[in-house]
Amino acid sequence: MINRIGIIGGSGLYSITDGMDLEEKTVTTPYGDSVDLSLFRVDDKDVVFIPRHKSGHKIPPHMINYRSNIFALKELGVNQIIATNAVGSLRENISPDSLVLPDDFIDFTCRRDKTFFDNEVVHTDFTQPYCNRLRDIISKNGKLIKGGVHVCTEGPRFETGAEIKMFQILGGDIVGMTGLPEAVLAKEKMMCYSSLCVVTNYSTPLSEDRLTMEEVLEMMEVKKEEIIKIILNSIEDMPIDYDCDCLNRTM
Ligand SMILES: [Zn+2]
Repeated sequence: MINRIGIIGGSGLYSITDGMDLEEKTVTTPYGDSVDLSLFRVDDKDVVFIPRHKSGHKIPPHMINYRSNIFALKELGVNQIIATNAVGSLRENISPDSLVLPDDFIDFTCRRDKTFFDNEVVHTDFTQPYCNRLRDIISKNGKLIKGGVHVCTEGPRFETGAEIKMFQILGGDIVGMTGLPEAVLAKEKMMCYSSLCVVTNYSTPLSEDRLTMEEVLEMMEVKKEEIIKIILNSIEDMPIDYDCDCLNRTM
């Protein structure tokens, strides 16, 4: 089995492979969806890219088949994942255009398929919700805020002012709609998973302005080149043979 590296591109990141040789693949899954992926090589490593919202940004956050996506990556031999997420800031000191590598999350999603274990009793340890080893590697490749609590909402609407205040009281640093259950499913499959969050805006009421998806995508366009560089440099630093706590589902 090839040990591949997986990249999940969020809003505004639909490819990282300009000018590279690609092999396109479709993986059928038992979760109701087939998944289209691109395979390519970086620094002699096998990499798989998947646009989370499908090409053309067709699928809204609450309708993404997260199980199919993670299953397809695992099927292709992926065991380390860098995923990008567009998020809003809950803190004055985390300005729009910051990049954050979260080290914890709070899950407010409610109608998504959140586990691979519906038919057996498996309680996955979440003392370390994201891979510490990958976070260390990525953090050395750019100006990134290392650590932070990612609050994930169901969407697709944006948050109210009262919800944002609640998230702040609970200790949230950034808020988005796509971080979960992806991180959970990857860990259930014993994959190393790190989220690279792009802060596109201040959340209400830190900002008086109305938030629009255009604003989110504009910031992604500004940050895209930097993000791709961080990802490609991190891939170069990621060993293919490694030992990690993520390889044990229960501690
Ligand atoms: Zn790991």
